[in-house]
Amino acid sequence: MGTFCSFMAKFYITTAIDYVNSVPHVGTSYEKILADVIARWKRLKGDGVYFVMGNDEHSQQVADRAAKEGLTPIQWCDKMDEKFQTTWKKLGLSYDQFIRTSNPAHHRACQEIFRRLQAKGDIVKAPYKALYCVGCEAKKTESELVNGRCPNHPTLTIQTVDEENYFFKLSRYAEPVKKLLERGEFIDPAFRAKEMLSVIEQGLEDISISRKTTRWGVPIPGDPEQVMYVWFDALINYITAAGFPDDMARFSKVWPADLHVIGKDITRFHAVIWPAMLMSAGIEPPKRLAIHGFVNVKKDGQVLKMSKTLGTVIDPNMVADKWGPDTLRAYLLSEVAFGYDGDFSWDGFIQKSNANLGDNLGNLLNRIVSMTERYFQGTFSSKGKSLPQDAVLREKVAGLADRVAPLMEKNEFHVALAEIWEAARATNGHIEASAPWSMAKKGAMDEVAGVLYQAAEALRIIAVLLSPFIPTASRRILEQLGIPECPV
Ligand SMILES: [Zn+2]
Repeated sequence: MGTFCSFMAKFYITTAIDYVNSVPHVGTSYEKILADVIARWKRLKGDGVYFVMGNDEHSQQVADRAAKEGLTPIQWCDKMDEKFQTTWKKLGLSYDQFIRTSNPAHHRACQEIFRRLQAKGDIVKAPYKALYCVGCEAKKTESELVNGRCPNHPTLTIQTVDEENYFFKLSRYAEPVKKLLERGEFIDPAFRAKEMLSVIEQGLEDISISRKTTRWGVPIPGDPEQVMYVWFDALINYITAAGFPDDMARFSKVWPADLHVIGKDITRFHAVIWPAMLMSAGIEPPKRLAIHGFVNVKKDGQVLKMSKTLGTVIDPNMVADKWGPDTLRAYLLSEVAFGYDGDFSWDGFIQKSNANLGDNLGNLLNRIVSMTERYFQGTFSSKGKSLPQDAVLREKVAGLADRVAPLMEKNEFHVALAEIWEAARATNGHIEASAPWSMAKKGAMDEVAGVLYQAAEALRIIAVLLSPFIPTASRRILEQLGIPECPV
């Protein structure tokens, strides 16, 4: 979708773009599922959603990896693009655009930003000498290293960079960025804003935004010897996808982004550097950042980082193939409280999925469908007779949407899900307590219809509210209830 009806609230949402040196795992998938749940929720509300994901394709590391595989960088990136998008589609991610930073339109955006920053006097050329982790694509200080190595990439050797680079005068923007962070609503959860304020408090250094030794990147305008530092180029993807600079009419409608969904490890880039770059370029900063924690793996009572070296990586394709994408989506969103780290354990995954999706939701659907089949040949036309116990159920379910909506807006997805599962349990309880099978034996078919009608109506509401989390199952439920036109 590229245009917005004037009566719709525009909602431009992005995820971080991924390095193409490794394939997605369950941890990377969590961020995309999280963003997809938000995008689907906003669509359900009737907002004009524009949802962008993508791949971060530049850097020497990518060029090296391609060479190792006997490929050119772009051939390698094409291959990875296919791998990533196959996974994302399998997980039911409803993105409108998938951006790739090797795209010429993105190069034009980066070069235009560079020119604007330069015109503003915010770019200088200076010697750059630093310890550098190619895994993080970031400068490291001695104190950040453990045994001379990056704690996040202990298998990689720390490099020494010593060259003439272009620098962005980040220090100039300490005050306006501080004001943005202090505004409160810019970052969720708020404690991340406090962390960034203390980073600014310690003093911002100007940052190197180019590389001389790398060829695989966006060329610096007017200097064929240098390409842009991969992070500088990567951040700009958010405005490229919105039409900058090729379609400024569209850009003015889509930008500023309403939400960047990112991981806690890249907060500084998004909360400090990115707003400063935009301010320098005369562009409004994004409205809000949603910063999530990591998915750890719980194994034999130990909580481990999901990493290749530890052998704890879980393949989302395998999980989706075996249990269906909805199972993974529902589990991650209920297990990982937004903003904090959460644990993936196989025991928990199987137990909770069986309990919520099988015993609770699946059972409810089966009961309604099979009794409607048995007692009314698959369809009943009247609401039946209302019963005293209807009031109890209605109380549980009628206010459900009103309880769930504010939780979704506050990013409290695990609480929202718990509310919905509780309503499904209450509906199962309503059927059990009413025992329509006993009513049928007595020939009280109006009462049976009444129980089934109330339960089906409750399940309809539950399925609609579940649709951002488990879109495939929700659609199937609504089809089985005979309301496939429901906007899910
Ligand atoms: Zn590192």
